[in-house]
Amino acid sequence: MKKIVIAIDGVSSTGKSTMAKDLAKEIGYTYIDTGAMYRAVTLYCIQHNLFKGDQIDEEKLQAAMGDIHISLRFNPETGRPDTYLNGVKVEKEIRGMEVASWVSPVATLGFVRRALVAMQQEMGKEKGIIMDGRDIGTVVFPDAELKIYVTASPEVRAQRRLDELKAKGEAASYEEVLENVKTRDHIDSTRKESPLRQADDALVLDNSNMTIAEQKAWLLVQYNRAISN
Ligand code: C5P
Repeated sequence: MKKIVIAIDGVSSTGKSTMAKDLAKEIGYTYIDTGAMYRAVTLYCIQHNLFKGDQIDEEKLQAAMGDIHISLRFNPETGRPDTYLNGVKVEKEIRGMEVASWVSPVATLGFVRRALVAMQQEMGKEKGIIMDGRDIGTVVFPDAELKIYVTASPEVRAQRRLDELKAKGEAASYEEVLENVKTRDHIDSTRKESPLRQADDALVLDNSNMTIAEQKAWLLVQYNRAISN
């Protein structure tokens, strides 16, 4: 069967990774969470004290890029990939509020983006992948056969993220999470390097009022259309 690249972009906490992971499992594709890669670089910065006040020590981070090794390894127990930073599983650490509050500034740095984009292009060169992020359909794989742009209201997204954090036992308030969602949207869509934007040929999905099952069904229809083209 024809193998394609599926690019899923959009604002944070839209549940795009859930739908991407589920589709990947169903059709036997590799799922790549590029947000996890930016989060892993951010965790490295936290671990190495590269944040001073509200500034990033860009010089030190640039010098350290060669020492930051990120891998996504399939976990047969969960059926999903886990993120490793320099050989250590960091799946839990990268999902917390501290990383969430620093990741967008880190993702504005051109040298970070270039390094991660090169890795992502290498990971997807054989096709048969679903990659989710902010710049997949515009920069990483501008020729992807299927591009989806997912959006939902900030309030709905904040509630979803809060539920996720609570389920993991992490304390956060709705106001704090809503603020983080809005701040990240702003930084991601106004940055100079590869800002978040909808690719001209992307299909838009506003899932504010959709269940996960409805989103999954919608995505499967789009996939079947794309492979039969
Ligand atoms: O998708 P997730 O919310 O985990 O991404 C975390 C952050 O990483 C985003 O808010 C964005 O700043 C950055 N990111 C990016 N480009 C990508 C994926 C994520 O800039 N392709």
